[in-house]
Amino acid sequence: MTDLQQFRADTRAWLDENCPPSMRTRMVAGEDVGGGSKRRSSNPEAYLWLERMAARGWTVPTWPQEYGGAGLSKEEFVVLLDELQRIQARPPLGGMGVSMIGPTLLEYGTEEQKLEHLPAIARGEVAWCQGYSEPGAGSDLAGLQSYAEDQGDHFVLNGAKIWTSGANYADWMFCLVRTDRDAPKHEGISFVVFSMDSAGVSTRPIEMINGGSPFCQTFFDNVRIPKTNLIGKLNKGWTVGKRLLQHERSGLAALASADTAGPMQRIKPALPMAQMLQQYSQEAGQGDARLRRDLIDIEMLRRSFVLTQQRAVAEAEADTPGAATSIFKYVEANYVKAQLEAQLRVRGTQGVGWQGEAFTDEEISMCRLWLEAKSISIAGGSNEVQLNIIAKRVLGLPD
Ligand SMILES: Cc1cc2nc3c(=O)[nH]c(=O)nc-3n(C[C@H](O)[C@H](O)[C@H](O)COP(=O)(O)OP(=O)(O)OC[C@H]3O[C@@H](n4cnc5c(N)ncnc54)[C@H](O)[C@@H]3O)c2cc1C
Repeated sequence: MTDLQQFRADTRAWLDENCPPSMRTRMVAGEDVGGGSKRRSSNPEAYLWLERMAARGWTVPTWPQEYGGAGLSKEEFVVLLDELQRIQARPPLGGMGVSMIGPTLLEYGTEEQKLEHLPAIARGEVAWCQGYSEPGAGSDLAGLQSYAEDQGDHFVLNGAKIWTSGANYADWMFCLVRTDRDAPKHEGISFVVFSMDSAGVSTRPIEMINGGSPFCQTFFDNVRIPKTNLIGKLNKGWTVGKRLLQHERSGLAALASADTAGPMQRIKPALPMAQMLQQYSQEAGQGDARLRRDLIDIEMLRRSFVLTQQRAVAEAEADTPGAATSIFKYVEANYVKAQLEAQLRVRGTQGVGWQGEAFTDEEISMCRLWLEAKSISIAGGSNEVQLNIIAKRVLGLPD
């Protein structure tokens, strides 16, 4: 038996014994764990699963052991994912800590910063939020105006961010701030992190079309940030910030690919689409020919997307994502929206239930998810912006 085969056998045995039963079922809204103490999963087994996986370093399997990971090779990581898929295991931990700021700190953090933040992220103790967008600086992110004034050993930050996902539940924020107002706009930006409990930080939730409030407006009023919280060099935050966006986009794309790898597995209906079509169709099995063809197209898109992602991972020379993640982010956003549109069409009027006994819980939650998913081609950079990046950075087309 090769080492990799032995690793697979050990992994399988451990997962069989340690993955709690409810963690082998489809994700349910409110049961995922994003880290931190302010927002709790409603399922206690989610914490048992988190604790067991974190103890093995498997919440962040490829991170070095000294930072809370397991130091797995790419090959071992693929085996682990494979075995998790085999038992339909839910991810033990999600959120911006493991998918965005963690990988960025691994690349740009000092040793002290890594030791301060990474093990806590790996254990799911800290929830993070992203302070990038501002009113007037979304696609044109480098136009941001929040200003961190240099006061010797610390900065004093004033300004406001918008669309900050989970800010009202976050423990820490990673944030792009202006530190030089006279430099060209990309060159006067720094990347800082700070506690959301710092004096002068406040949040105001914004309601979304689905009735939830996934994001906030965030205000900074003379917030003191120690200089030790600067990630990378002063005024070079644009480089760090862009890198983090690549991690964000690859994370967003991963949501659609691995059936068990993220909260967007919520888009999967309880029944396979073909069966759903039969259940909802008046003429069972007949359906509407155009709808049936669309369902096949969507399934083909999903399968080719998963295979292309797997190929890209296998062929990648570096372990970290590049500009091509914009392709995955773009395709994923369109796939998720198309999939939910199709579910709505299959369910007909039953698909637009907002509340009430005439609708099942699944019909209501899918209707809200369909509305929520409208935002997926905007969050993390809009589709148009992804197409610009693909044109310039992947295809090398002129500006
Ligand atoms: C659900 C959700 C969660 C989010 N979470 C966060 C978060 O946690 N933290 C954070 O900082 N931000 C977050 N955002 C903000 C998100 O990054 C921005 O909304 C996004 O970058 C677009 O910026 P904008 O809203 O200012 O739109 P604008 O930049 O004003 O764009 C408006 C329209 O113009 C188009 N457009 C703009 N520039 C160009 C161009 N050069 N070429 C072609 N078309 C263009 C856009 O595609 C879009 O259709 C979130 C957004 C959503 C929807």
